[in-house]
Amino acid sequence: MAPVPEGHTIHRLATRHAELFAGDRVRAASPQGRFAEGAARLSGTVLEDTEAYGKHLLHHYAGELILHVHLGLYGKFTDGPGEPPPPVGQVRLRLASDRHWLDLRGPTACELLTPPEVAALRDRLGPDPLRADADPDRAYARISRSPTPLAALLLDQSVVAGTGLIFVTEALFRAGLPPLLPGRELTPARWRELWADLVALMTRAVEVGRIDTVRDAHLPEVTGRAPRVDRHGGEVYVYRRPGQPCHVCADEVRRGTLTGRNLYWCPTCQR
Ligand SMILES: [Zn+2]
Repeated sequence: MAPVPEGHTIHRLATRHAELFAGDRVRAASPQGRFAEGAARLSGTVLEDTEAYGKHLLHHYAGELILHVHLGLYGKFTDGPGEPPPPVGQVRLRLASDRHWLDLRGPTACELLTPPEVAALRDRLGPDPLRADADPDRAYARISRSPTPLAALLLDQSVVAGTGLIFVTEALFRAGLPPLLPGRELTPARWRELWADLVALMTRAVEVGRIDTVRDAHLPEVTGRAPRVDRHGGEVYVYRRPGQPCHVCADEVRRGTLTGRNLYWCPTCQR
C-alpha cells in the first residue's frame, strides 16, 4: 500500500493547481454526484489562489468560496491539457478551463468552507514546516509538556502539520533521538535543530517530488552499498528498512509499533 501523502505532496499540488488555473474562470462538476452541490457553486468562479496547510489543500475562489480537500489514504488528483476526457471511475470533482482539466477521486474530504471554518481548521493544526508563517514555539509548547513519545507527538497533526511517518522517522534518526523519548525530555536546543531539519528535508522534498534524507557521506555512490529499491524512490536511513544494516553504524534497523503505526529506528545511532 502506498503511504499516506505527506505535506510536501500537498504543497506541490497547491503550486500545480495555481499553475493550471489561477486567474481563470473554471467550470466545475461532480461526475460521480457526491459533490454536485458544491461544484455547482464553484462553477463559473475565478480561482484566485491556492495554499496547503499540512496535509490540507485549499483553493480560494472569488467571493470567499474556499474548496478544502484532504486526500487521506486513497485520494488522487490527475490533470491534463485541453478538453477533459470522458470521466473514468468515481470522479468527485472535475475542474476545467479553456486550457486544462483536473480530476479528483477518492478524497477523505472535498467540501466548501467559509473563512471562519478555515480559521477553525488552521487552529486545529500545529505549525507546518513548509509555511513561512509557521511558529515552531507553538509545537514546542505542546511537546515540552508531554510524556508522550516524541514520534507520536510529531505524527499528531495538531502538534506539527504535514509530517508523516517518513519525515518523522527520518528526522529522528538524523537527530540521533530515540522515537520513544518522552516529549518533555527534548531540550529547546534539540527542538530547534529538529525543526530546522524538518524544514530542510520537507523543502527539498517539495523541490524534487520525493523524500531523500540520506546525507551525501552515506549515499550508495560514496559507500559502495546498493541503492535502495523501493517504488516510492528516495534514499532513507531507517524507514521501511527493518532488519537491514544501518547506513551509519551497520547495526540492525529495528521496527516497532506505536499507536498502530510502524516505527523504525537504529538502536545504536538513536539513544
Ligand atoms: Zn546506526
